[in-house]
Amino acid sequence: MFSFSLPVSSEGGDTSFQNNVPDPVTSGDELPTFKFELERSTGRVLGGSYGKEATVSQLPISKGIAGVSMRMEPGIMRELHWHATAAEWAFVTEGRVRTTVIDPQGCAETNDFEPGDIWYFPRGHGHVIETLGEKPCHFILVFDNGYFSEFGTFSITDWIGHAPKELLAKNFGLPASTFDSFPKEEVYFARGKIPPAVPQPPLQGWKAPPLTHKHSLLSQKPFETFEGGIEWRVEAAQFPISSTMTGVVLEMEPGALRELHWHPNAAEWQYVLSGQLSVTLFGSKGRWRQEVLNQGDVGYIPQGFGHSIENLGADKARILIVFNSGHYQTIDLSQWIAGNPVDVLSTNFGQDPSVFEGFPRKDVFMTK
Ligand code: MN
Ligand code: MN
Repeated sequence: MFSFSLPVSSEGGDTSFQNNVPDPVTSGDELPTFKFELERSTGRVLGGSYGKEATVSQLPISKGIAGVSMRMEPGIMRELHWHATAAEWAFVTEGRVRTTVIDPQGCAETNDFEPGDIWYFPRGHGHVIETLGEKPCHFILVFDNGYFSEFGTFSITDWIGHAPKELLAKNFGLPASTFDSFPKEEVYFARGKIPPAVPQPPLQGWKAPPLTHKHSLLSQKPFETFEGGIEWRVEAAQFPISSTMTGVVLEMEPGALRELHWHPNAAEWQYVLSGQLSVTLFGSKGRWRQEVLNQGDVGYIPQGFGHSIENLGADKARILIVFNSGHYQTIDLSQWIAGNPVDVLSTNFGQDPSVFEGFPRKDVFMTK
């Protein structure tokens, strides 16, 4: 029914529609839902650890981006694996996490993360994720392909467990019996000791890659401060390895509005970190839809569709927003109007020119 989405380029987001074939999910008479209650779903559970995902299976509109909420108990490791069809962008919400990632040049990097930090692993690069310390950790993973499933990763135990022992013996120059007690099926979550406080060197010794996979987002000065809140933003300009994804955290005061806007070059994936938000979606031909997103809910805005975000609650709200392009672009409605002469606006809306004297002279972005 759906055409499989093509790999996403570093220049733009979802290129799958550029052959002008309408997307059946978003070209009907009504806009489909763009909300999924991620934290209320079950996902894959091991004791107190879990992975819950939002792909096109759970949220059909989300063709450009998939996401996962993952919690891991102390001593739990998300085993060595890679993703054949997606890069991985992550935001840590609780606890401490360690990752080790390999690149095609044989360079490996180990990093420790705290809440507010992000990582980026290019598509296909092998990695492992460990809980650090005595407390559980929680993080949000975002993938630049809505068809990507966290439960279809290429795991090291799955591979070695299905390769003949003689082949492995030759591969590693070891006796075949070495592999007698290796797992036969995918481990996914491995359980072991709490990792050492200081990371141990890899077998090959330290060999650092030219670009780091770690960026501390929330510990940095905000990208911008507005009447109604704060924006942190990280794109490839600040975090060069993240060539296909951009991340934003918006902190919105009660009543704050991220104004009507669209993104020419990317789809938008949303995860509510705290609070309750109203998100509106405009899809041409009079199609309008509004969803209320609560903490732990996911929203998705297709590339180029109009939308807005408003804090409905009495407290500050925070929303994590990830785009499938390393370059942030937005056109805000106030900016668009401010970029036109009064006679154009007057004719377009059939209004007296004086009506437009009170409109903003510059981009609003966020207000309240
Ligand atoms: Mn991964
Ligand atoms: Mn947006």
